Amino acid sequence: MALRSGEVLVLQVIDLQEKDRIVVFLSRDWGLKRGMARNARTRFSRFGGELQQLAKVHLTWFEKADQEFVRISGAETIRVALGLHRDLDRSGQVRHLEGFLVSSYLSEHMQLFAQDNEPDNHHYRLLDTTVQALLDGCDRWLAARYLECWILRLSGVFPAPRHCPSCGNAIGDEAFLAVDAAGLLCPSCGGGAGANRRVGAEALAFLRRIGGSDLATLQANEHIDEATLRSVESLTREVRRAFLGRELKSYRIMQRTLRDVTP
Ligand SMILES: [Zn+2]
Repeated sequence: MALRSGEVLVLQVIDLQEKDRIVVFLSRDWGLKRGMARNARTRFSRFGGELQQLAKVHLTWFEKADQEFVRISGAETIRVALGLHRDLDRSGQVRHLEGFLVSSYLSEHMQLFAQDNEPDNHHYRLLDTTVQALLDGCDRWLAARYLECWILRLSGVFPAPRHCPSCGNAIGDEAFLAVDAAGLLCPSCGGGAGANRRVGAEALAFLRRIGGSDLATLQANEHIDEATLRSVESLTREVRRAFLGRELKSYRIMQRTLRDVTP
């Protein structure tokens, strides 16, 4: 049995029976892991309060090579959970609810795309900087678009739209999403079929900019309007769905909930 300890981001916490919790977490040095936190639900638990979705925690655990769940033995908060953070400009319950929905959405991405049991600094860094930007007041929809684009890019399926993958020509300010959602084509290769989704200059500019800017810089220096973010959202949704073969559960819940609560 090995004793490990390090910085982790909590992705999901599932209550189990009367006292225990299952904790899914992303570790900088060991990737995605699932752990059992015994007695974490009891009132005097040593670490129950630390284990919240998207909290950054210094975690200690024991693991055996052939066991699916590690055994969590200690947790100390490094940075508070995103959902517990109070928005400075919060305008009522909807914005608070959005915080929880976005937390689940970012977390589910990591559970599906990050590496199991091996170092995964790229995904760790992406989530860590996104959560920090959100805590610093970054627009949550900008942050969600940034993370979902980058996570596809890290999987090699949605590169910055610079050259058409079909003919190799440079892509200007218009492109078309391939029918199989595998990439963006130039107008000559993608524009004729009629069924392909057209992508405009603003969305293309966003997809290029995220390669060279972090979230804080994007928020501070670029004017990215709602229509652009919606256009990017529908693009990444199609690409992700084609890649995974299904929709994210947290995305469906988010869509349904926001439709119900938004006046
Ligand atoms: Zn082409």
